[in-house]
Amino acid sequence: MEKRIDLHTHSIFSDGELLPSEIARRAQVLDHEAVAITDHVDASNINSVGNIINTVTDIRDNWDIEVIPGAEITHAPVEIIDKLARQARKLGAEIIVVHGETLVEPVLEGTNFTAVNCPEVDILAHPGLITMEEVEIARDNGIALEISSRRGHCLANGHVAKIAREIGAHLVMDTDTHAPQDLISYETAGKILTGAGVPDSEIHKILRSNPERILKKNGLK
Ligand SMILES: [Zn+2]
Ligand SMILES: [Zn+2]
Repeated sequence: MEKRIDLHTHSIFSDGELLPSEIARRAQVLDHEAVAITDHVDASNINSVGNIINTVTDIRDNWDIEVIPGAEITHAPVEIIDKLARQARKLGAEIIVVHGETLVEPVLEGTNFTAVNCPEVDILAHPGLITMEEVEIARDNGIALEISSRRGHCLANGHVAKIAREIGAHLVMDTDTHAPQDLISYETAGKILTGAGVPDSEIHKILRSNPERILKKNGLK
């Protein structure tokens, strides 16, 4: 069985329940090759990106799993998303996620458009009813769109998968883990993609090749 790569999780440094070490350990037991810890940030707590660097270093040195420090820019004014992404990168974030226009939260309109135009962004998470134009820009800028296993955020998975496949934008499949039971196996991730209308022939690309591309681009593989 292939190994999982999950590039979107939350620890106690935002609204998650788990320490970074416990996320890593549970991910290791569920046969993950890599897990990114991408706590929510805006301008008030962007410096918290550094909180997990020591843990990441300890785990990289001692366990057979890649733990990646990241950040999820969340509910920020669209005018400062680009600035926050560059700051997070400077502070040591190796995966930059933007909290997209999910159907279940009042995310500011324009967040999807700004994120796909920001070269520092790796993944636009749960982008809800993203437009064709935004998906084309994401494709051209190499920004991945996320299929989510998270309750609520998953409601637009079918739309995101359909339009991204039509236009040729990269998809990834993340859990947006906040609690111990949220991490999933490769097999379960595949089933969720099937549920979103993705044909079997494209599942490996979404679960392995696309996240591997992001890791390579950021010097992590
Ligand atoms: Zn959260
Ligand atoms: Zn999240």
